[in-house]
Amino acid sequence: MDLSRKLSAEGHELVETGADVAIINTCSVTKTAIRKDRRMVNKAKAENPKAKIVVMGCWPAVYGKDIVSADTVWGAGKLDELVKQISNFQFPIKVPSPNNIPNSQLQKSRYFLKVQDGCEQYCTYCVIPYARGKLKSRPANEILDEARKAVKQGYREIVLCGIHLGLYGAEARSRKLEARKSISMQKCDLTSLLKSLIIINGLGRIRLSSIEVNEVTDDLVELLAESVKLCRHLHIPLQSGSDKILKLMNRPYNSEQFMEKAGQIRKNIPDIALTTDVIVGFPGETESDFKDTYNLIKSVGFSRLHVFPFSPHEKVPAYKLPKRIEAETIKKRTRKLKNLGSELENGYRKKFKGRELEAIIEHNNDSKFIAKTEYYFDVEPNKESLAKQANGGKKIRAGSLIKIKIQ
Ligand code: SF4
Repeated sequence: MDLSRKLSAEGHELVETGADVAIINTCSVTKTAIRKDRRMVNKAKAENPKAKIVVMGCWPAVYGKDIVSADTVWGAGKLDELVKQISNFQFPIKVPSPNNIPNSQLQKSRYFLKVQDGCEQYCTYCVIPYARGKLKSRPANEILDEARKAVKQGYREIVLCGIHLGLYGAEARSRKLEARKSISMQKCDLTSLLKSLIIINGLGRIRLSSIEVNEVTDDLVELLAESVKLCRHLHIPLQSGSDKILKLMNRPYNSEQFMEKAGQIRKNIPDIALTTDVIVGFPGETESDFKDTYNLIKSVGFSRLHVFPFSPHEKVPAYKLPKRIEAETIKKRTRKLKNLGSELENGYRKKFKGRELEAIIEHNNDSKFIAKTEYYFDVEPNKESLAKQANGGKKIRAGSLIKIKIQ
């Protein structure tokens, strides 16, 4: 998102077809992710035979620039330089097509604001610390400026993003930096950053993209419970419900601590949406370990699960772990968890039946509007809610906040 905004500022336009430049942002966390990267690059080339191809992200950052043939291969960061390179490409002169949706219309629903990069946790299945390096937080004043600009441009929801969001400001707090440079950062953590953001005039709501369970502080829970501007949604990666597997993964909590924190959050914010990631078939995962994961997920009552079958690449320590799980078993367990995920998701939605919620219109799908509630489930606004909005003199477009009665 950051890149698309920078490109827009340079006069480029985001289009879905007929592109002059196709940019593929890659991820290399698993082998499956790399396979998808390769497919995306090939697809982009096939669908845009005349376009310049830019491949960026984790894949070239970890595996080197020669992994793929492209006009530009870029790792992570230094986006301004990348924008310059893209702007230097020679393009044929084109008459704008009326079917090309202007950038502003495609992008004005939710603003993804990156506040932090890097991770030093070194979970044994994850390549990110090798690709993104140490913790680096952006100065709070820079983030606030960007947030104000986003609001001015019409964005109503800001999603705070980072590789290790819960540790926002941690490196400045723990390292002895030059006093002048770090004085504001030493006091800054995620909750105080949120407190500064929620007072921005015109900002509808703020969502956290993801946070580790041991970084959900009492202050943060209190703020989430109190502030109407913070979405009652936390994405907290679980990865496994088995203590043995969590240890092998080098995760910084055990199942009891996870349950305890989830219970504390729910006690303070009963209807909060808790969503999670889980890895299935980590080496050594027995049937009983899997059952622990299944049961923990059920008792926390996550409202959405992202299930990842284990498929590491050779750069991470888990690649060399013994007791690999058979592909068939991984498939079976993945299916079971996905079914559980759907059940939980439906059950969670039902709790809101009859309630009026505020939702942000994200896009038009087959000429239907799709809107996202603060609780992270999508709804299709019915004719009445759209009419009510229109009668109030408000335009219906991507980014509009609209009241919807949940059916
Ligand atoms: S905390 Fe997240 S980003 Fe960091 S190593 Fe673990 S999984 Fe990767």
